[in-house]
Amino acid sequence: MVEVLNTIHKQVDRVEVEAVNSKANRALFSKREKIFPKRASGTFRQFKWAVMVFTLAIYYFTPWIRWDRGEFTPNQAVLVDLDQGRFYFFFITIWPQELYYITGLLVMAGVGLFLVTSTVGRAWCGYTCPQTVWVDLFLVIERWVEGDRNARIKLDKAGWSVPKVFKRITKHVLWLLIAMMTGGAWVFYFADAPTLLKNLLTGNASSIAYSTIFVMTSITYLFAGFMREQVCTFMCPWPRIQGAMLDERSLVVTYNDWRGEPRSRHQKKSDVNAQSGDCIDCNQCVVVCPMGIDIRDGQQLECITCALCIDACNGVMDKIGRPGNLISYSTLNDYEANVKGESKNTTWRSFIHARTIIYSSIMIIAALSLLYVLVMRNPVEVNILHNRNPIFIVLSDGSIRNGYTVKILNKKLQPQEFIISVEGIAGLEMQVAGAQTDAQKEVVLTVPANGLESVRLFVRAKASNLKAEQNPFNFIVHNKNNSEKTTHGAFFYRPKK
Ligand code: SF4
Ligand code: SF4
Repeated sequence: MVEVLNTIHKQVDRVEVEAVNSKANRALFSKREKIFPKRASGTFRQFKWAVMVFTLAIYYFTPWIRWDRGEFTPNQAVLVDLDQGRFYFFFITIWPQELYYITGLLVMAGVGLFLVTSTVGRAWCGYTCPQTVWVDLFLVIERWVEGDRNARIKLDKAGWSVPKVFKRITKHVLWLLIAMMTGGAWVFYFADAPTLLKNLLTGNASSIAYSTIFVMTSITYLFAGFMREQVCTFMCPWPRIQGAMLDERSLVVTYNDWRGEPRSRHQKKSDVNAQSGDCIDCNQCVVVCPMGIDIRDGQQLECITCALCIDACNGVMDKIGRPGNLISYSTLNDYEANVKGESKNTTWRSFIHARTIIYSSIMIIAALSLLYVLVMRNPVEVNILHNRNPIFIVLSDGSIRNGYTVKILNKKLQPQEFIISVEGIAGLEMQVAGAQTDAQKEVVLTVPANGLESVRLFVRAKASNLKAEQNPFNFIVHNKNNSEKTTHGAFFYRPKK
């Protein structure tokens, strides 16, 4: 008897595995089904419009904001100056050797994404991800030209005709214009925007500018116009990672089946009775979904938590006179409590628990550390390199000469004049390498605003004043503009006796 039961169980397992495999194979190789999302309306749609306008405005207009940094540095508020190796962000200038600021910001952005996901699920994907924002924008154009869902489906199925060709050409021309504006805005972050625009229009911009615009235009057109939900489902790694970020306290878009089931179709307000659930199987939550999924099937990898299905369903519930939020943002804890018939609302718990506290603490510590380093950073950096080949030279009068390169980095926005002198060994003299001048006690070096200058110096000492093979002494760098003096240790070498 036991053997018979085991055999039956094995057979059932095998059939189930085959069914899953066959379904997976079908899903892997099946042709993409076109999605024609219907326009939703409601609170979350309004919020998404606001976020879309806000984020697009930031992207398109930021390169045009001016920021006065004086006559020696660019006046574009946000600029990645690849020629000079500087990143300007309003009052902050970041040099290549300070890339740790960017690393710090990326760490903060990463932890911020973890924080958002562990509290409100894929809110980043649903509202602010560039892919979502541009797909939304392209859908606005598509609906404007071809109509809402039903009209678009009809047009798609219809044979080619003059109106169809006209609509398709109009749509693609508008898409291409937006894509070009997107690519164009991108290059404005890397050069003075008004000058670059003039050069682009007159054909005088560099080929790298044109090719970058071409690449960015193509990516925007392809990703937002054609690939759409496939980018989120198949190309982006985030849906896979987010599974590890969510827990039972995270807010996710949830179909409250404990309220909605059993479904019954075509219910009118008066048809609702005690036996039927609130879901009238009208499919409105499915047709508005930009990912083409049915949230009633449960949590799915494709769901970007845009909440448009909540809006659609709330509209339906309103019409049939049932309470809203049949689909809602809910935590697993609340959902399970409701299934058990306990009325529970622990939404606040999704914002305050151990993980959110840890993520927030990391972000605050990183932000404060960056701020501290930024405030405390020295606007002038001096670097002294001893020439190694040769390490010293014995001159014809018996004195010893060592060579040094003094580099001064001026992060200030005005040019600075520095007086370099030496001390620490009796009778030290300096001479600028290659200059036909007498030995000097001081050398003057002017460093441009937000720039770097270096000078090669020969330092000479009498052999009798050098007590050891390696003798410590100091370079004194005196900033004439603010009278600040800094001391930089170095060594003077002489041959073995
Ligand atoms: S199921 Fe709802 S929340 Fe998820 S992607 Fe579709 S419309 Fe957005
Ligand atoms: S919109 Fe609401 S009522 Fe209509 S099918 Fe979806 S869950 Fe059911």
